[in-house]
Amino acid sequence: MAVPELHRNTWAEIDSAAISDNTAAVKARLCRGVRLMAVVKADGYGHGDVESAHAALRAGAEQLAVAYLGEALRLREHGIEAPILVLTPVSPSEAVLAVEHNLMLTVISASWLREIRRYKLGRIGGKLRLHVKMDTGLGRLGVRSQEEWKRMVPWLQRPHIELVGVYTHFATAGQEHTDYVERQLHRFRCMKQWVLQSGFSGVLYHCAGSAAALRFPGAQMDMVRIGAALFGFGPQGLDDGIQLKPALSLHSRMLQVKKLEQGEYIGYDNSYQASGQEWVATVPIGYADGWSQGLRGSMVLAGGMRMPVIGKICMDQLMIRLPHRFPEGTKVTLIGRQQQAEISCRELAQYVNSVPQEISSSLSARVERVYLPAATEGTSSTPSLLVANAAH
Ligand SMILES: *Cc1c(COP(=O)(O)O)cnc(C)c1O
Repeated sequence: MAVPELHRNTWAEIDSAAISDNTAAVKARLCRGVRLMAVVKADGYGHGDVESAHAALRAGAEQLAVAYLGEALRLREHGIEAPILVLTPVSPSEAVLAVEHNLMLTVISASWLREIRRYKLGRIGGKLRLHVKMDTGLGRLGVRSQEEWKRMVPWLQRPHIELVGVYTHFATAGQEHTDYVERQLHRFRCMKQWVLQSGFSGVLYHCAGSAAALRFPGAQMDMVRIGAALFGFGPQGLDDGIQLKPALSLHSRMLQVKKLEQGEYIGYDNSYQASGQEWVATVPIGYADGWSQGLRGSMVLAGGMRMPVIGKICMDQLMIRLPHRFPEGTKVTLIGRQQQAEISCRELAQYVNSVPQEISSSLSARVERVYLPAATEGTSSTPSLLVANAAH
């Protein structure tokens, strides 16, 4: 049986024009000649990978990056031809796919380069294009010593391999103090000398993500890798005032509205008790949609007012306390604006001690993404156009 296309009462609206505008705003901050690589990993931080990539490329991004090979292949499948860098090392057996689809890979060790010999990449035609990742202090991935680098050199000089880039990633670019960023930048500049001394030329050096690119022009080097800022998440208070626009709003509708008497319970484990007569609505979004139990007690909007999530958040629903009765079907906004009121990913992130991009990228495939046509930018009526099912 074919499953018909169904629409849930819970959806995210993506404003592609905002992503384009944010891309252009970042681009305007770049020093002459610096390339913009748009990072659209994790389904474009929850905004849709293909749509986000198109929106960024329209506004002048030259390259794309994703975390995993599968994410890159999806972009190619959708006809995107821009250069794509895969940021997380792949297994040696998958290097073949990178050559076939003209993807750039990240390499962090000589042993990986030795391994890929087995797959006879020369047969395919075309080169394997690589970026070497250096660890200058994030402690996550990358080459740490000159010795490790030197072991890679002979492999990188082989005929079917091209060293395209060398990069690193900052640990504290969004923090107020700048000494650790400077330390990492200094290390990276030393590492650049290793590469030059080994005789490589035409290599792109890049180290800045959104926060570093906007705060430290001297860290922009040949290219910047911009993710968060595309989606409106800037280095708050530290970016000398770049205007970024939120690109995602999240909405649902009241499924049931009921009146509680004093002492009645709401939610699993009797997690909320009415302290008097109260109106409560059930909203069909839960932790399986990415609305984590940590958001219990946070605010949502209805009728232009803020109201709290009460009791434990369930897998598929949550309950909110209303200031008065609302009709069933009333729109509830979990991220975005209603009249003068607004709930941002940043506010929610602060509530759960995280970063805004965790809120947007956690929204699961069960939440339908609706792409606003560029002309209706900023409006938040329920669009019926361009519905893309996020379940891919
Ligand atoms: C995710 C990521 C980025 C993008 O960072 P933002 O802060 O979102 O701009 C850049 N570089 C690497 C290596 C990443 O993993």
